[in-house]
Amino acid sequence: MTTTERQRSRRRFLGIAGASAAVAVLRHFPRAIAGGADRPQNRKTILSFYCDDTGPSVAGAKAFQTFLDYCAEQRIAGESSLILGMSGHSISRQPSGEEAEYLKQVRRAWDCGIGTHMELMTHHGLFDFDANGEKQGAIHEGLWLHEPDVAAEQYERYLSNIIAESQRAEIRFTGLTWPGCGCDACTRRYTELRAAGHTEPNSALWKALLNLAKQGKFRSHTVPCFFGSSETDYGIHRKASEGDHGVYDLMPNAQDHFGIWENNRDRVDPDYYITADGKSGIIVRHVQTKAPYCIWYAHWQGLNPAKGVGWPAFVTVVKRIREHLGDRVVWMPAAQRTTYVANLVP
Ligand SMILES: [Zn+2]
Ligand SMILES: [Zn+2]
Repeated sequence: MTTTERQRSRRRFLGIAGASAAVAVLRHFPRAIAGGADRPQNRKTILSFYCDDTGPSVAGAKAFQTFLDYCAEQRIAGESSLILGMSGHSISRQPSGEEAEYLKQVRRAWDCGIGTHMELMTHHGLFDFDANGEKQGAIHEGLWLHEPDVAAEQYERYLSNIIAESQRAEIRFTGLTWPGCGCDACTRRYTELRAAGHTEPNSALWKALLNLAKQGKFRSHTVPCFFGSSETDYGIHRKASEGDHGVYDLMPNAQDHFGIWENNRDRVDPDYYITADGKSGIIVRHVQTKAPYCIWYAHWQGLNPAKGVGWPAFVTVVKRIREHLGDRVVWMPAAQRTTYVANLVP
């Protein structure tokens, strides 16, 4: 998408967001939540989050269990990544004790309000599914999604192989998160691609995802994706659709201040989201401006309850939201997210 196209779709998004999007969304929520949604003062901002890089090696399976228990108990909702080949082999084939325990937790995530995004197979080089290992010296997955010469069939085959691995573990993906990478090779190539005008993922990727959705390979008819994010220039962009199947770029509009992937104390700030008095912070701002949603992203390295420096801040933020914004927000359960994205784009 060019800048002009992005601006155009941003305007289109704002057009519906300002008028009736929140109403359209709330139609699909339980009566108790949607009641009186036609009155502007009753519009609720939908809350959700993406947690990237989730896996058993960072903090163990127990940490993910604690996280899920907390989400279920607090009735909050989001998406958490699953990267089946991050440790070099597919953990759904012959999982170790810890890996099996972790997969067991991923299977119950949906019922705790947490969907499962593929952050591709390795979050590193392309995977060889026959050899059950990462290909030596292969291009990194996130960059590969941007390479203009890759065909839709190639993407479809690769993603379909990842889905087959998830099926071995009886897990269903809800969407796709772009595995970002700052290695020298990726940085150099992204610069070249940008200079040549390739600032977006290869559009063949959207076609491949749509085909997979039509084959029932994702949990829902729609496939939300997480690529870019912006606090101000955000939106839900339909990338491909046919009938009631669709692929959407569902952009977060708040950043990671829960320790990021470095598990860094200097990058923890609950006040960024909502201050103790409930008067400021990005969530408060989005609620005040009647944004249809506030979605932030985080990383498992910082967010996990075992060693994540951001976990206490996350708990604080959830508590402050309940105290100060309780009647103005609604956490979006994973089961309803797909209807939500499909209905926000005319
Ligand atoms: Zn990641
Ligand atoms: Zn890389």
